[in-house]
Amino acid sequence: MKVIGLIGGMSWQSTATYYSELNRMARSRLGGLHSAKILLWSFDFAEVEALQAAGNWETATTVMIKAAQALERGGADCIAICTNTMHMMYEQVQAVVSIPLIHIADGAASAIKAAGCNKPLLLATKHTMEKDFYRGRLVSEHGVDAMVPNEDDRDYVHQIIYGELCAGKILSASKTCYLDIAEKAFKVGADSIIFGCTEIGLLVSADDFDRPAFDTTKLHCEALMDFALQED
Ligand code: GLU
Repeated sequence: MKVIGLIGGMSWQSTATYYSELNRMARSRLGGLHSAKILLWSFDFAEVEALQAAGNWETATTVMIKAAQALERGGADCIAICTNTMHMMYEQVQAVVSIPLIHIADGAASAIKAAGCNKPLLLATKHTMEKDFYRGRLVSEHGVDAMVPNEDDRDYVHQIIYGELCAGKILSASKTCYLDIAEKAFKVGADSIIFGCTEIGLLVSADDFDRPAFDTTKLHCEALMDFALQED
């Protein structure tokens, strides 16, 4: 089994999900006492969030590069950035390591297409919903044309992620807010929903929606386990 390098801590609430999902998947695919081989780099999220809020993407890219290089030196066979938002610097990070950086949006896009959908609602941080690095890749690499909520609703979605989910607060009013936003999008043509932030699965689950839901955390873990179990 290959070693999966995780750049996590963004936030640790969702990195804990990566850790348990990967181990659960290794056990379910291989049986017995099998578990995943994982090397974890875990950031202090307050430091990362401060860089994001200040728009200091240059320093954010530098710290991501250092984390990836440390994982490669430590023996990782692949790397996952355990947050959708920090895929903003995917290309720069991939350029400095020789092991594959497995993109979180690619597994999600494959699942969306396999389900026969192509107009998902993307719920994510404002960085992910508003900049081009994520929706652009979905369209250019996969032909998946994601829509996003209106500006007020993008603010709510973003505030709930940083103010609650990344701090481990799960509030039923916030769940209702996400369900209402999804309902509005379904009425105007969204055929599915992407949990495009790795903490969203802590608040809502696929069962809460009457259209297909794609949880990027779980789909990323599936893609990582596929890689880890490939023959050389
Ligand atoms: N984990 C979140 C994501 O998937 C947000 C935290 C971050 O900004 O990295 O985008």
